[in-house]
Amino acid sequence: MNASLFERFERSISDPTRTVISTPAGGTLSYGDLIAMSGRLANVLTARGVKPGDRVAVQVEKSVPALVLYLATVQAGAVYLPLNTAYTLAELEYFIGDAEPCLIACDPRKREGIEQLSARASAAVETLDAAGQGTLMDAAATAPDAFETVQRAGDDLAAILYTSGTTGRSKGAMLSHDNLVSNALTLKDFWRFTADDVLIHALPIYHTHGLFVATNVTLFSGASMIFLPKFDAEEILGLMPCATALMGVPTFYVRLLQHSGLTRELTSRMRLFVSGSAPLLAETHREWSARTGHAILERYGMTETNMNTSNPYDGDRVPGAVGLPLPGVSARITNPDTGELLPINEIGMIEVKGPNVFKGYWRMPEKTAAEFRPDGYFITGDLGKVDERGYVHILGRSKDLVITGGFNVYPKEIEDEIDAIPGVFESAVIGIPHDDFGEGVTAVVVRSKSATVDADTILSVLDGRLAKFKLPKRVLFVDDLPRNAMGKVQKNVLREQFANLYVTTP
Ligand code: AMP
Repeated sequence: MNASLFERFERSISDPTRTVISTPAGGTLSYGDLIAMSGRLANVLTARGVKPGDRVAVQVEKSVPALVLYLATVQAGAVYLPLNTAYTLAELEYFIGDAEPCLIACDPRKREGIEQLSARASAAVETLDAAGQGTLMDAAATAPDAFETVQRAGDDLAAILYTSGTTGRSKGAMLSHDNLVSNALTLKDFWRFTADDVLIHALPIYHTHGLFVATNVTLFSGASMIFLPKFDAEEILGLMPCATALMGVPTFYVRLLQHSGLTRELTSRMRLFVSGSAPLLAETHREWSARTGHAILERYGMTETNMNTSNPYDGDRVPGAVGLPLPGVSARITNPDTGELLPINEIGMIEVKGPNVFKGYWRMPEKTAAEFRPDGYFITGDLGKVDERGYVHILGRSKDLVITGGFNVYPKEIEDEIDAIPGVFESAVIGIPHDDFGEGVTAVVVRSKSATVDADTILSVLDGRLAKFKLPKRVLFVDDLPRNAMGKVQKNVLREQFANLYVTTP
């Protein structure tokens, strides 16, 4: 049997006339249209020399043809390699050199620069712009619809996604057809997706959240999605009466809450709000429930593993927790140094295992070996704990752990306390080099609108609630925390910005 994701998706379609994608401009695409467009693009790819196993690198703006290019690549048996649209030519040089793609699809504005890079890599270059126009679609216009999906084993690669990598070189996570299909089917069942669902799709499609979670769950459910080029709070509020589900990063929810139009009535047809890719503040969770009557469902995943845990569909969606391991996925907490299993409620490394977990890092066998335990568990790099009910709680990336005077300080614990103080909107706790302590616990705080809370007030609330060694040495105020496109706070940027805070001038 052909285990290609494309083949399995196509076989799951029960009614090719149903709409799969609609756009605000009024365009619609049926499942049948989608298969035909994919076939045309797959024919173009093969005509350009793309063979099974070859990488197809794609750095284009979000558009319907860009999404179909993902399916066409997989249908042609090749490996889809999406790249963040923010990467510069200098950054692309690394990815192209590392992945050695056979074909690169890019925005027409970058064509010239990419052609120079690709000359060395001997890759074909095609264009696709934000409107879905360019040489790829020109060629597809005259290509036949029919394309026999290339035979793939479940273990063959469907995609390589580079990790965002704030330290060192970005690593290419190799994802197989089985990795992607198993996670899509698990999430579809767990989140009760059916053909009646209409998902608001406002995430980028170069990242696992928008590309795999949102798209694959929709496709394998026979559902449809309203495909938006980017997040726009007002547009999304306007669409809620005709949709049933939204998948977003926490920033989406924070921004939507700023609009008075967000009400119970407006969201009465919606059945599911999913959040992930960065921690959702418990406060945002509570405010959302109060305003809409819906409890946001928070889940936890990463590029390397697809989704690992999710709050339940029925049952408690616990603010600040990322839920239970998904069916078929095992999660455990270990001592980061020894790998020894830790008991309930103890903080350690989150390790996961299951059909969702990637095959390793592209051309980095040592890095791959270092991040797997001998019994197959992947060491996520996230610190967390499992409570008595089995819910997983994340306390941050292990590289963000603060070690002060020999003690471990888990930023999330301090951030939760600070965030609960009236007048605080949000905070980030970081470690900054300090002569006496190694690292000084430092709180970077964003005040709520027109609040005047100061450092002394924050420190006096924390004193008595937290052990002395966990108390921030300094509390700094900023207007906004630096975030990446997925809403993750970039603590490395803050560490750099305040690197000299504790430097004592001689
Ligand atoms: P990425 O590979 O870009 O998807 O980033 C994955 C990382 O995002 C994880 O290793 C976590 O550190 C973080 N992350 C994802 N989902 C959540 C969540 N619900 N809460 C807290 N952190 C999360």
